[in-house]
Amino acid sequence: MTSSLSVASTSLASLDVAAIRAQFPILGTSVNGRPLTYLDSAASTQQPESVIAAVSDYHRLHHANIHRGVYQLSQTSTRMYEEARVVVADFLNAAEPAECLFTRGATESINLVASSWGGGFLNPGDEILISNLEHHSNIVPWQMVAQSRGAVIKVIPIDDAGDIDLDAYRRLLSPRTRMVAVNQVSNALGTINPVGEMIREAHAVGALVLVDGAQWVAHGATDVQALDADFYVFSGHKIYGPTGIGVLYGKRALLDAMPPYQGGGDMIERVTFAETTYAPLPNKFEAGTPYISGAVGLAAAIGWVRSVGLDRIGAHEQRLLCHATERLQAIPGLEIKGTARRKSGALSWVMVDPPIATLDVGAGLDLRGICVRTGHHCCQPLMDRLGVSSTARASVGVYNSLEDVDRLADTLIEMVEEER
Ligand code: PLP
Repeated sequence: MTSSLSVASTSLASLDVAAIRAQFPILGTSVNGRPLTYLDSAASTQQPESVIAAVSDYHRLHHANIHRGVYQLSQTSTRMYEEARVVVADFLNAAEPAECLFTRGATESINLVASSWGGGFLNPGDEILISNLEHHSNIVPWQMVAQSRGAVIKVIPIDDAGDIDLDAYRRLLSPRTRMVAVNQVSNALGTINPVGEMIREAHAVGALVLVDGAQWVAHGATDVQALDADFYVFSGHKIYGPTGIGVLYGKRALLDAMPPYQGGGDMIERVTFAETTYAPLPNKFEAGTPYISGAVGLAAAIGWVRSVGLDRIGAHEQRLLCHATERLQAIPGLEIKGTARRKSGALSWVMVDPPIATLDVGAGLDLRGICVRTGHHCCQPLMDRLGVSSTARASVGVYNSLEDVDRLADTLIEMVEEER
């Protein structure tokens, strides 16, 4: 972490973490007889009362299928669903709500682009650039479409700190590059990638860019127009919203030109056995009954995050991350993986001396009520690059406190001492 981040963090009013925590019912529960210490927000954030209430109220008072009913209840649920789209568009600063499609999550959003845009427009020999930091969700869909279209995947390398090698990226870009798919923040290492710069350079060779914002949107403001991202994806459950709902933002001209991803109800204009015409955006990409309460919950989550303030959330999390880095790097035999210049949210490590398997680290922490993620984090190519099969990862959210971090560090010290 850079010192500029620490300076920025001290200049913002700090959060009342106790008041925030009180809004998350699950944080008052216990695990294995210990108070829950939740340090796995990169996998899934917990939900505040306001989100739980919005989803519950929708089910208790407003549910009906959307877009089809003339009766008032259906019109209300349609309005709630479409208002959620307006909230998302405003959150991302999209030019219009129709550029924001509801999906099941970041994974489905990427599959939609790979399948529809890639299936429709990639030609043999075209190149797709992905970074060595990608989640499997931003690798496998591209592999699948590359295989079917005869396109080629090129990997943007990273350095030992976990930063993208920008010189190598520039060398890989060429007129053959059609798509650059890169995450804004690495889920495994926390690296913040210079996506703005990468987009400018990709556009200079005529390539499109898909930004996987799954690990960014809950930690800082997003402006897809300022970024000039062609596609931007994220998941509701990583921004204090429900699972099973996510967003694909795409520029209208691209989405208009792309063929539908799935066929079915709601995505058509007119169906005959001879010919079917498709609905305009956004319906063209939302076949079938959508996850209405998920969209309502996501809008509530975005509203909640904005009421706290993304700048304050980001500053608070930087403080936590700085503290966690200081505490963990002081533990003898613990090796932090990923020391990038700019990081957000997540800290990965392995125990080398004494060697403790990451699975045992996770299980040992769980016995003390501490939730961290262990494994390859859906980033096996990154693990190969780091020369490990897995890491333990702690990741923070707005509700974490310095005490949570200290509990983690103190418990790791205890575990190392027990092992010696
Ligand atoms: N991309 C990144 C960077 C992620 O961290 C994740 C989930 O961990 C995904 C994509 C996939 O998200 P989902 O499982 O919600 O579709």
